[in-house]
Amino acid sequence: MLSVENLTKVYRTGDKALTDVSFTVPRGQVVGLIGPSGAGKSTLIRCVNRLVEPSAGSVRLNDLDITRLRSGDLRRARRRIGMIFQEYALVERLTVMENVLSGRLGYVPFWRSFTRRFPPADIAKAFRLLDRVGLSAHADKRADALSGGQRQRVGIARALEQDPDLLLVDEPTASLDPKTSRQIMRLIVEICRESGLPAIINIHDVVLAQQFADRIIGLQAGRVVFDGPPAGLTEEV
Ligand code: ADP
Ligand code: ADP
Repeated sequence: MLSVENLTKVYRTGDKALTDVSFTVPRGQVVGLIGPSGAGKSTLIRCVNRLVEPSAGSVRLNDLDITRLRSGDLRRARRRIGMIFQEYALVERLTVMENVLSGRLGYVPFWRSFTRRFPPADIAKAFRLLDRVGLSAHADKRADALSGGQRQRVGIARALEQDPDLLLVDEPTASLDPKTSRQIMRLIVEICRESGLPAIINIHDVVLAQQFADRIIGLQAGRVVFDGPPAGLTEEV
């Protein structure tokens, strides 16, 4: 479970990006984070994995107070948070399998054919994940030979490779066509449900958020202005 309490962020420039944001996300729940540009969505996501230092408040993931961790422990904690990005952040010259395994490494390897350095159990697991996202036939293709939807599937498999306790998803469909966007959203939601993963999806497209998220959190000027089921969402959020 993720628990965010009174999270506040004031940037050095004086911009108040988040004010007293509180919510908890239980196992398996997918939260669609919506709000106009500048509302604080990216800041919130970045405070959860501490790419941005919160000014006040706390972020807890299960037993761990992320806001209190120092560098070594923070690095370990970040390995428990799977990230999925708008532009996929794949390594173009590496294969699909290598990209997925790089999730386990936590850094981008520079040597060639590093797949064979992994124990068979890791490779088997990566294959299972690729199978789950519908890419097992493409394991040996280079990332730059894939379509946008396929790339995002690799991104999803890579995020799952580290057995995360939380998924943070930043605009996963912003570079995809509507049909592929729906497929990707459906896949993320199904995976979260079946594995009990909680997820926060920063999503610009309110219709997609309503269609697929279990719950919507609406931000405006750094404050939570809506928190509830998609059906309860009103025009002004
Ligand atoms: P969103 O993701 O909803 O578009 P952001 O979290 O990017 O919103 O931004 C929230 C507010 O914080 C905006 O006013 C933005 O200008 C400001 N902001 C974001 N990042 C920084 C930063 N690195 N330094 C100063 N202000 C920032
Ligand atoms: P996104 O579209 O993903 O929300 P932005 O274009 O808002 O990203 O921001 C790009 C980068 O610039 C981010 O690292 C963000 O933190 C930073 N940034 C955004 N607004 C400001 C600001 N007002 N001052 C300084 N940095 C900012």
